[in-house]
Amino acid sequence: MKKISLLLSLFILVSCAHESSEELTIYTSRQPQLLEPIIETFYQETGIKVNLLSGNAQELMERIAIEGDESKADIFMTVDAGVLWQAAERDIFAEIDSGILKNNIPEYLRDSNNLWFGLSKRARTIVYSSDQFSDSDFSTYEDLADPKWQGKLCLRTSKKVYNRSLMASMIDAYGFDQAKKIVSGWVSNLATEVFSNDTNALKAVSSGQCGVTIVNTYYLARLLDDPKYNNLNLFWANQNDRGVHVNISGAGIVKTTKNKTNAIKLLEYLSSEDAQDFYASANKEYPVLNGALVHDAIRDWGEFSEDGINVSKLGSLQKEAVFLAQEVGYK
Ligand code: FE
Repeated sequence: MKKISLLLSLFILVSCAHESSEELTIYTSRQPQLLEPIIETFYQETGIKVNLLSGNAQELMERIAIEGDESKADIFMTVDAGVLWQAAERDIFAEIDSGILKNNIPEYLRDSNNLWFGLSKRARTIVYSSDQFSDSDFSTYEDLADPKWQGKLCLRTSKKVYNRSLMASMIDAYGFDQAKKIVSGWVSNLATEVFSNDTNALKAVSSGQCGVTIVNTYYLARLLDDPKYNNLNLFWANQNDRGVHVNISGAGIVKTTKNKTNAIKLLEYLSSEDAQDFYASANKEYPVLNGALVHDAIRDWGEFSEDGINVSKLGSLQKEAVFLAQEVGYK
């Protein structure tokens, strides 16, 4: 009981009190300000009011399980295919039958059983210091395992799901043993202890503590607002083979919803051109809908070829990725 009340106290119910049957509630680990403008437009167009309940993804999943049939959650929205995959494993989601979602969202960015769908793309790639290197020095994630990078590499901790998903993509591409050799090479090349977040890894590159790192591009975009970090250069990894590692933010419909029709309507709206033009760009991510706009600040990075691995594999190989990191001492 104590645990439940503690959990409840951790959440802030954004938006208002009593719900009519027309209203929807999204439990989300995303920042409310990324969603608020879109749900307001959705309300103007449909009359369906959307409430946001924000919190940590693991705690929200727990809460949905505890609430059971009583849950107010119609949609669970979070980041990283690894987490969405986990939610599906926990049997939180209902199957969604929507031609619009299938049409707007490429197959590799959604669950093959239609339990969850990607709504924005997040690219994780190489960033280096232009004080030390140039584009011609880089090629692939795998190349960063070469001894020539000894003492030059900075990485975020393997405990972050983003890196687990990246390792999962390498296990899928090369098999466990080969992927293990690569990650072990990274660990040998580390300039410092691993970092707790992408931003600190980027700052360490900028200051010269190391020369290169691997991060989600929106963290770089944020730092580049400050001219002091303009020695940070993005390099699109693996353009001559499997492409840049791409992950998603996404959502599924909670199976206990009493508003499935409206919930589908909202997800379809989020995948539409109107919403895609600014949903991804609000966090300087990439749209999932082909041809939707990207933020001005990241347009100069140009187009890139993406790893076409189905993102649900990033979830199903998560456990192996954790094991791999332990085996090579990647903290
Ligand atoms: Fe992030």
